[in-house]
Amino acid sequence: MAHVISTGSGVVLDLIRSGQATTRTDLISQLGWSRITLARRLDELLNAAIIVSAGQSDSRGGRPPEEFVVNKDAGLLLAMDIGGSHSRLAITDLVSTILLEDEADIGLGHGPNDIFDWSCQVFDHMLAQLGKSRADVRGIGVGVPGPVDSASGRIASPQINAQWADVVVKDYFPDDYRAVFAVDRDVNILAVGEHRLGWPEYDDAIVLKVGMGIGCGLVLNGRVYHGGRGGAGDLAHSPSGGDDECLCGRVGCLDTVASGRAIARELLVSGAAVRTSADIVALSNSGHEGVAALLKAAGEHIADSLVDPVALLNPSAVVVGGNIAHAGDVFLEPIRERLLQNATAFSRRDLVVIPAKLGHQAGVIGASLIVQDALFEADRISRLTRENGASLAHYGEK
Ligand SMILES: [Zn+2]
Repeated sequence: MAHVISTGSGVVLDLIRSGQATTRTDLISQLGWSRITLARRLDELLNAAIIVSAGQSDSRGGRPPEEFVVNKDAGLLLAMDIGGSHSRLAITDLVSTILLEDEADIGLGHGPNDIFDWSCQVFDHMLAQLGKSRADVRGIGVGVPGPVDSASGRIASPQINAQWADVVVKDYFPDDYRAVFAVDRDVNILAVGEHRLGWPEYDDAIVLKVGMGIGCGLVLNGRVYHGGRGGAGDLAHSPSGGDDECLCGRVGCLDTVASGRAIARELLVSGAAVRTSADIVALSNSGHEGVAALLKAAGEHIADSLVDPVALLNPSAVVVGGNIAHAGDVFLEPIRERLLQNATAFSRRDLVVIPAKLGHQAGVIGASLIVQDALFEADRISRLTRENGASLAHYGEK
């Protein structure tokens, strides 16, 4: 960490949070600071109750050094993963461990008023179950299925669903939440969760979320790539043949041939009515042959649309998540086989096509992680801990 220039407490917290350095000796060797400077910064973090001493590490001989960890119980984070037709909520501690969660068949189509009314009620109920209140909430992380300006939390415009254009997420939460907000696209929170906790060995990955729609997130150099206006990773509307009109108004997009919506439409033609992507997976698990063929065809279409992005970005991994991915190999294998067959010789070398690991919780874990990052952002922590008497309870911004 020779490039660290700031001498604020925030950089100390970064090293402790990431586990890169948790003792005085390791922090000094990473930061190159004097013992006195480090002691001052640690005191700021301890006084603000942002970190606590975790006691003595006994991994070395002699008197073991004192270790520091994030004070995970100094507040709560609310996490929200809004999907096309299904949404999940969770309350986590400050290191993103899920304490309580809930879900419902409510999604984008219901519009922002209904979804945030529902989430506020459920969060209040869950807070009461934990014996806590809105005053204990330090951060709120939200994933939405569309491009977002993550700096302002404003959903970009135009949106396929006009009710969501220009929505500012924090405006839908009551004023007595004095919390930090972080908002990102649903597939990006999935990508954050999968990259940090599922597949940390892959710093360059294309992450897919296949449900009733198709989402795609890009992890480049270990960070989610958003693009100029938050719209990076729009794989769903790449041309894939066919003559069906897409929700976006164009014809023959990937979404029209490979999404859960497309599979459901084909199933309806053959007399099997399914409503959600979970229904499709259940039908597949029951051994329905028609679904297996449709999942294979969808997987191959997705693989074809990945050939160019894989050549362009040279990722190490394609991570396949979302509800349809829970169908397992019947969906994953066709993607893997076809992509490794058709990708350019260079781009397919050492490329792995792997399933998402965190299952249904990936989104809410990712939402909690992005708001944890915002809450503990280094410059912000350095500034706030310099102010006398600051504690995490003063860190909300609403
Ligand atoms: Zn389209």
